[in-house]
Amino acid sequence: MEKLQNYINGRWVDSHSDHYVDVLNPASQEVLAKVPYGIAQDVADAAAAAHEGFQEWRNTPVSKRVQYLFKLKTLLEDNADDIARTIVLESGKTFVEARAEMVRAIENVENACGMPTLIQGEFSEDIAKGIDEYMIRQPLGVCACIAPFNFPGMITFWFLPYALACGNSYIIKPSEKVPLTMTKIVRIMEQLDLPNGVLNLVQGARETVDAILEHPVIKGISFVGSSNVARYVYAKGSANGKRVQAQGGAKNPVIVLPDADIEMTSQIVIDSVYGCAGQRCLAASTIITVGEHKDITESLVESARNRKTGFGLDSDVLMGPVITAESKNRVHNLIDKGLQEGGRVLVDGRNTKIDGYENGNFIAPTIIEDIPLDGELAATEIFGPVLSLVHINTIEEAIRFINSGKYGNMACIFTSSGLNARRFRHEAEAGNIGINIGVAAPVAQFPFSGWKDSFYGDLHGQGKHAVEFFTQTKVVIERWLKEWNRKF
Ligand code: NAD
Repeated sequence: MEKLQNYINGRWVDSHSDHYVDVLNPASQEVLAKVPYGIAQDVADAAAAAHEGFQEWRNTPVSKRVQYLFKLKTLLEDNADDIARTIVLESGKTFVEARAEMVRAIENVENACGMPTLIQGEFSEDIAKGIDEYMIRQPLGVCACIAPFNFPGMITFWFLPYALACGNSYIIKPSEKVPLTMTKIVRIMEQLDLPNGVLNLVQGARETVDAILEHPVIKGISFVGSSNVARYVYAKGSANGKRVQAQGGAKNPVIVLPDADIEMTSQIVIDSVYGCAGQRCLAASTIITVGEHKDITESLVESARNRKTGFGLDSDVLMGPVITAESKNRVHNLIDKGLQEGGRVLVDGRNTKIDGYENGNFIAPTIIEDIPLDGELAATEIFGPVLSLVHINTIEEAIRFINSGKYGNMACIFTSSGLNARRFRHEAEAGNIGINIGVAAPVAQFPFSGWKDSFYGDLHGQGKHAVEFFTQTKVVIERWLKEWNRKF
């Protein structure tokens, strides 16, 4: 069985830890590899290498740094199918979903290729007689990414290409549940011939994260994961003087107004709820109908029933398993909770068995209707294939309910009224808004704007925020003495 390694200073090395944990295929429980739960010495080695690599990298012109990214884009495109198969094996999602994830990763590499322009500073001549002032952007130093399990190939690329293009060196800490994908990607990235130490990968879990939060050489941390850990990472990293951006969990509501196109809405909503088995931070979770709801309810129920669940590499499978057996139990418990609170099951995906994959963590699409708005299920992130359907009388009430939630990752509305859509856009407390869109995922040139408990920090991932996050400004005021102004 393969024992995964760390990539430090341009070489694959064993972890200092002797604690290895099985990486499982969620569809079958087959052991795919063993991942070390790294210790502080692993992070110290990576940080030392990254610090060394940074000295050369920061002095490499930005126009040269992006040449590596152009090459990386081609490498990722050439290997996308292979990477996607690994994503399916360790995360459980379908091949189509895994392939789409790589498209998003590549978009960020492309966007970061614009860094020669994006990183340009500002200049003011003669702020006083003979004195000029300008601002330049310089890299932070060593930066690190701590990633969740649900997008093993994409999420690191919300940060990595920008960090490198801005002149930082980098440490990747993948999720211990899905360490194979980034291991594969780093193996592919070896073909770039980056200077040693510029790119490093450390395997591990909590102890590795703590070591990253404590290491003095690490200056910037990008975290994506659940809100409790995001809050912890933000608090501890900031207290240690680091720049931190920490994206957290979500509970995404969708309003369906009576004037929405039923067929289109139902299809888009179902894709949003059940894509990646509901394990997306932008998955629709609570569907709020306003007014008449018979037709949309029937349509959602029919689409949910028809969505085929199974192993992600099998043809016409549209939904895979959830990531772990614990996850499956957690989702089952939340469904039970919703029922105890008064909800009714319209579609029940519990007790689903898939032929040939009897040990998989499968839950088929589930719909629960009429859960109480002030109950636990309405407030809790499910992160599984469960749609909660609630019926409300007015758009005012619906927006009030949305804004009472603690998360603010995404909120969507389906309507044919521009006025209601505009009002929703203005009033809804979420950083990513969808109008007749089910997964309002910003493309690479826009920031991934979570609000409230879905984000801790100031600067988001992607877009211009990424340039600001991965650089520090330096303002220079300068006077060159000449004959005519020497008297000053
Ligand atoms: P998680 O919080 O369990 O793990 C995320 C990372 O933190 C992993 O690398 C893990 O090793 C580390 N970690 C876990 N527990 C820790 C602890 N106690 N101390 C220090 N480090 C710890 O999240 P997950 O289960 O891998 O991912 C699912 C969560 O991520 C969901 O809540 C989802 O909404 C969220 N997510 C958010 C976004 C976003 O953009 N806001 C995107 C994807 C996923």
